[in-house]
Order: sequence, then structure tokens, then C-alpha cells
Amino acid sequence: MTIEEALTSAASRTWIERGGTPAAPGTGRLRPLGLREVTLRDGFWRQRQQTNRHRSFAHIEHWLEKAGWLKNFSAPPEERRGREFSDTEVYKFLEAMAWEYGRTGDPGVKQRHQAIVARVVVAQQPDGYLNTNFGRPGQQPRYSDLEWGHELYSFGHLIQAGVAAARTFGENDLVAAVIRAADHVCDVFGPGGIASVCGHAEIEPALAELYRVTGNRRYLEQAKLFIERRGHRTLADIEFGRSYFQDDVPLREAESLRGHAVRAVYLASGAVDVAVETGDADLLAAVARQWRHAVARRTYLTGGVGSRHQDEAFGEDFFLPPDRAYSETCAGVGSIMLAWRLLLAQGDPRYADLIERVLFNVIATSPADDGTRFFYANTLHQRVLGTEPSTDTQVPRATSTLRASWFEVSCCPTNLARTFASLAAYVATTDDVGVQIHQYTACGIDTTLPDGRTIGLEIDTDYPVSGRISIRITRSPDTPWTLSLRVPDWATGATLDGLAITRGLVQTRRRFTAGETLMLELPVRPRFVAADERIDAVRGQAALVRGPVVYCLESVDIPRDVPLEDLRLDPRTEPADRDGHVLAAFRATRPAAPDWPYQPLTGPPETGPPMRIPLRPYHRWARRGPSTMRVWMPLTSER
Ligand SMILES: [Zn+2]
Repeated sequence: MTIEEALTSAASRTWIERGGTPAAPGTGRLRPLGLREVTLRDGFWRQRQQTNRHRSFAHIEHWLEKAGWLKNFSAPPEERRGREFSDTEVYKFLEAMAWEYGRTGDPGVKQRHQAIVARVVVAQQPDGYLNTNFGRPGQQPRYSDLEWGHELYSFGHLIQAGVAAARTFGENDLVAAVIRAADHVCDVFGPGGIASVCGHAEIEPALAELYRVTGNRRYLEQAKLFIERRGHRTLADIEFGRSYFQDDVPLREAESLRGHAVRAVYLASGAVDVAVETGDADLLAAVARQWRHAVARRTYLTGGVGSRHQDEAFGEDFFLPPDRAYSETCAGVGSIMLAWRLLLAQGDPRYADLIERVLFNVIATSPADDGTRFFYANTLHQRVLGTEPSTDTQVPRATSTLRASWFEVSCCPTNLARTFASLAAYVATTDDVGVQIHQYTACGIDTTLPDGRTIGLEIDTDYPVSGRISIRITRSPDTPWTLSLRVPDWATGATLDGLAITRGLVQTRRRFTAGETLMLELPVRPRFVAADERIDAVRGQAALVRGPVVYCLESVDIPRDVPLEDLRLDPRTEPADRDGHVLAAFRATRPAAPDWPYQPLTGPPETGPPMRIPLRPYHRWARRGPSTMRVWMPLTSER
């Protein structure tokens, strides 16, 4: 089958009709649904998806123009602006538009997509090369800086944009350009070519996905080659060490996700794709093992990853300081990509648990309510008041201050845009016997099982405000099928139709009839949690979580004369729900102001009267002006 035939094949047409989906493995435990098979209804995520479409898209396009990153594709080399990887923000925006079109069929989105594609493809060289930063007169030669040049990383995002276009618009100019670009990459880096890898992973999942779209095994073989090559110390040693770009140890041998967090999760995503398509059980097991290790020892309560600012990297095991949490928004996006691929491959609900945690506490935290300002890093403890950056300037990436309009490295806003546009994909899957619901949000689901039986569901809920989730069957065959519902790891005491259920997957197999309703109750009541003793930075402290949502203490909610750092949480008083916030008991202590901040083992006692202070969802923080904030709270001496 030629590529042209593959792109117009029945399988491709099916994805286009279903609205596309961000990862479409050829095999695995679960099958993804298309963006038109799940329609979000009014609620937590639909609201953010609408803001993305109606505010963030225009904001991003405005900045791509203003910063000159879009113009770079047609500008002479001496006028090029932005960092070496700025092309990728255009590509991620194209990807976001493709998913948005897939979901809605909005002709306005198609028109903007075509207009930008036309401006991008003119920069492609006759041999398929496309990068505005290298290879032209006055610029560095192509592939002369694999450590930092991000050329294959850029091709990766270009290819991802092409994959999204192929699954939503069908064949168009971008898809043709992407195939030429991928062929170029295979020519230059294939057997007998440059035997190295890119400092920033991303080409790996992109090529594997392009194989899924085109059926051309050459792309899969090249992705596999990149995965196998990495870890053999082909890239130069750098100040952060080769673990920064995961070139220190071969992927199969590594114990954990490590190094630069975004690089690590993109690479692992590509490894899952390659493992699934080549039937490499060892490789899949290696990634799953590293994921479990990183979740158990290198992940914040919010699901965020990256505890070192210096190299935007995972820290060592249990190195999770809240005030130095980097937890880059993009690492959250990549973490969802990885967990989603593992979920499709293996079906383990723990992957969906993590996706939920990241969605509510990283993805929902980053954007401002109007969708035009963003957190790059997501600290868990803000010690000093932030300053509102000018909406007119690019800020240097990750200062933990207030949300910013745009960054000199502006990876996060476009990454959020493609995630919000494709959010429906993560809600549910099918397998041979039925439908699995992984994320709870108001939505309608209409899908077809592999044997042709059609199933319709309507989920009605205000989750996570309450844990009441009604699942109405709107269409069902006359024969039995299995409805599987994820019961989150925190949901002790959950019930289905009044009967107790255990955490994990609860499966109901029978003949359903249209119109009947199942009622799932997840206990979202607020609860205090403590961290593993080995996370020294928060030992002796507690955090408050309600359902999947992490809460925080913010200075705007406490009496003016009480410094945030003087408050001690009294865990003996049960936290109480009040209209969107949770009341918890505190007492203040007033440490003496010594010249030397160390003292005998008995610290200052609490002196102030007991007080009740509201805690609010962490994703709502810094939306009422500058504030100081903390997620982990020290405890009263008596408890
Ligand atoms: Zn980012």
C-alpha cells in the first residue's frame, strides 16, 4: 500500500469520521475513542476547553506573530527571531487546531489552520529539511549541535502536527510536507547515516505515530533506532550530565524516569509506542517499571514532576521540596501522554489515576481563567508575593511568580492548547467486551464496539464538586456487554447503586437497557494526607486533598496580622466543606526573631487562639492577586 493509499484507506477515513485521537496504537489492552465519540457537556473541563478555543487560540496566534516566530518561516535568516526551537510552538498550535477541528468541525479553525500551514511549508527545503534556525547562509550547519539544537525535536512536533492533520482534516499540504520531512530524517539518521540522537526526545513518538497513520514501517524502524541508540553516551557530556537527555543508560536498563522531565516523559512515550507496535514486551515492561518508580518516589502530591530548577529535571528519589517544585506544565502534559499510552497498552487503572491527578492539579492550575496567562512552573509553596508581569512582554520562562502572557521559551501555552483540544480522548476507551470510563466529567459517549454493537452513555455530574456521578445508558445492544468504571485510588468507601465497591476497576457485565441509570458515588470529602517519611522536605507536615483535588493555604484568606509561615494546622479538627472551600483549624505560633535560626529541640509553642481558615483548590491559587501560598502545612505541637 502506498502512503497515499494508506492516508485515504478505510482505517484513516474511520479516524477522520471519529474526529481523530492523539495516540492510536495498532494493538493493546484498550482502544482509544475519537474526539467526536465523547462530547464534553457543561462542567469543569468543557469550560476550559471553550476558553482554550475562544481565548487561548487567538492569544497564541497573536504572540506567534508578535514574537516573529511565525514570520521566521518566510523571513531571511538574518531576521530570524526567537530561541532555536521556536518553530515548535507553531507546530503545537497547528496540532491543537487539528484536534479542535476534529472535535467540532469548526470551519473557522480549518481556515486558520490552512493559512498557517501555507506560511510554514514554504520554508521546507527540496530534500525535506525544515527548520528556520539552521542550514541557511549565516546560520549554523544542519545537525551541528545535536545536544542543544533541537532539530529532531522540532521535526517531532512538525510530524505530530501532521499526524493530527491526517486524522482530522485528512490529507492536506501539511501531511505531504510532514512525509517529506520524515523521509529526510530517515535518510539522514537511518542505518549508515548519522548514528546519534537529539538532545530533546520527541521525534520518537512522532515517527511511531506517523507509522500508524501511513503504514510505512520505515518510520517505526527509525523510531526504534532512536530509542535503542539513546543511552550509549553518543551525545557530549554537559554540565548537567548525560542523564539530562537520558543518554547515560540505555532505556531498557534504566531504573527510573530521570533527567530533564519533559525529555524523559516524551522519550518514554515514544518507547511505549515502539514497544507496542513491535511487540517488544521487555521494552514495555521497562517503561512501566520506570513509571512506577517515578510515581512512587519522584512525583509531587499534585502529580507534577521535576524538582530541580537548574536542569528542569527529576530529582533523586524522595527529593521533592515544595518550595522548589519545578513541576513544569509541559512535564504534566508529557506525563499524561505517557500514562495514557501505558493505560492503552496494559489497562491498569493506576495510569488513569495519575492522569486525573495531573489534570486537576497541574493542567487546570497553569492557565488563568481568561486563557491568556499561564504558569510555566507550578510551585507548591510560594514564599514571597509574585509580581504581575506585563501582558506585553515575554518573560524569561519559569520564575514562580504570577501567570505570564508569553515566555521566551513558550512551550507551555501551546502544549496546554493541544491538551485541552484533545481532552475528550482521555475520558473513555473500549475493548472487545465493552466500555471503560476513566475520567468523570459531564459528557455524552457514543461508540461502537469492535464487533459492531453500538453503545451510548450520558454522564451527568458536577464532579469534582460532588462525587455523585450518574451514568445513563442511552443506547445498548440486546446482548450483554461490560461497563467498567474506574474507582480512584483515594476513593475508599465508594458505592455503585448503593453497594460498596473496591478501588480499581469495577465491572458490570449484563444486558443493559436504554434509559436505565447507574449511580456511582465517589467520597470526595476532604482528608488530610502525610508524605512518605523519606520526603524530608515535608516531614511532619500535612496537606489537604478533596477527591482528586489538592488544596492550599493562601495568604489572601488569613487574617492580615498573621504571617502565613506562622500558621500550624491542627489535624485533630476534621476539615469541613463550605461552599467551594474547606475550613480547617489552625493556631499561630510566633517564633522569636533570633540572630541564629536554630534552637533547642522544643520549638516555640502555639500562642494564638484557635482559628478556622479556608483552604481552596490549589488550581485556583493566585487568581485573586499576588499571594503567598503553601500546600504542605506544619502541624501544631499537640496533636
Ligand atoms: Zn513548558
